[in-house]
Amino acid sequence: MRIAWIGLGNMGSPMSANLAAAGHEVVGFDVSEAAMSAAAERGVARTASVADAVRDADIIFTMLPNGKLVLDVADGPEGVLANAGKDAIFIDSSTIDVETTTRLSDLSKDRGLRFVDAPVSGGVPGAVAGSLTFMIGGAEEDIASIRPIIEVLAGRIFHIGPVGQGQAAKIVNNTIAGMNLAAMCEGAVLAERLGINAKTFHDLATVSTGDSWALRMTYPIAGVVEGAAVNNDFKPGFAASLMAKDVGLGVTAASAVGLDVPLAEVALAQLNELLTRGMGHLDCSALVKVVEGSIDA
Ligand code: NAD
Repeated sequence: MRIAWIGLGNMGSPMSANLAAAGHEVVGFDVSEAAMSAAAERGVARTASVADAVRDADIIFTMLPNGKLVLDVADGPEGVLANAGKDAIFIDSSTIDVETTTRLSDLSKDRGLRFVDAPVSGGVPGAVAGSLTFMIGGAEEDIASIRPIIEVLAGRIFHIGPVGQGQAAKIVNNTIAGMNLAAMCEGAVLAERLGINAKTFHDLATVSTGDSWALRMTYPIAGVVEGAAVNNDFKPGFAASLMAKDVGLGVTAASAVGLDVPLAEVALAQLNELLTRGMGHLDCSALVKVVEGSIDA
C-alpha cells in the first residue's frame, strides 16, 4: 500500500511512522520543515506538497489541527481531492466538527473518492504504541477495506455509524475528557492545599471513585506520574488549544440539539483563560495554573 500522510505533528508523526515500520510505503507532507525532518528520520518519505503526496496514494490520511485546515488541504486545485486517484480512500483522523466532515464526504463523492472519518483517542502514548482507539464513521465496505491499515495503529476499532458519526462520538468523548481534566486539576490543587502528600493522594484516587484517564496519565503535580507533561514544562502531549477546540465543538453540538451543558461550559471557560494568557501551546494539564491562580495577570 502507498499511504499519503498530511500533518506530521504530535500524533501524525508516530502514526505514520508505525505504518512505515509495518512495511507500507508512506509519504508525508507538513507545512513545518521540522515536522517533516523528524518524520523522515522515522521512515516517512518527504514530499514537496499535498498534491505530490497524494498523487499515487491508495490511502490518504489527514491529521490536522482543525476542520478549516482539513477543508483547505482537501479542496482547491493543489488539494487532496483534485490530485488523488479515483480509487483512493480519504481518511480524516483529525478531530473536527460534523458539518465540515459531511462537506468533506460530499466533496469526495463529487470526485468519485471514498471518505471515512476516523478520529482517535489515546493521545501521543497511544499513537506511539499503535494502541489508539478509533471511532469510525463511514460505509461498511469502505471500513472493511481499510481495516488492515487501521489495525496497525489501533488497539480498539469502533464503527459508530455513517459518515460524521465517528466525529460525533469523538466530540462527546473529548468533552467528557475536558470536564474530567478540569475536575481533576481542581482536586489535585485541593489535595495539596489540604496538606495531603501528592503521590499518596494519587495512589489512593487511582483505585477509588475519583479515578479518570486524566488523573492516571496527566496528574499536574510534578514528580507523581512518570511521563506527565508537568514534569517537562507542560510540553504537549495534547495542547490546551486542541482541548479547548474539542470542548468548544461539544458545547456547539449541544447547543444545536437544545441541550444545556453547564459543566462543559465551565471547563471551556477555564481552557480559554489559559489560551487568553498565551498558553494554548502548553499541554492541556497546564489548566492547573488556572486553578492555582498561578498565571500572571
Ligand atoms: P499538532 O499541532 O502537533 O500537529 C498538527 C500538524 O499539522 C503540525 O505539524 C502542523 O505543522 C501541520 N499542519 C498545519 N497546517 C497544515 C497544512 N495546511 N498542511 C500540512 N500540514 C499542516 O497536533 P496533534 O496533537 O498531532 O493533533 C492533530 C489532530 O489530532 C487534532 O485534530 C487533534 O485534536 C487530534 N488529536 C490529538 C491528540 C493528542 O493527544 N495530541 C489525541 C487525539 C486526537
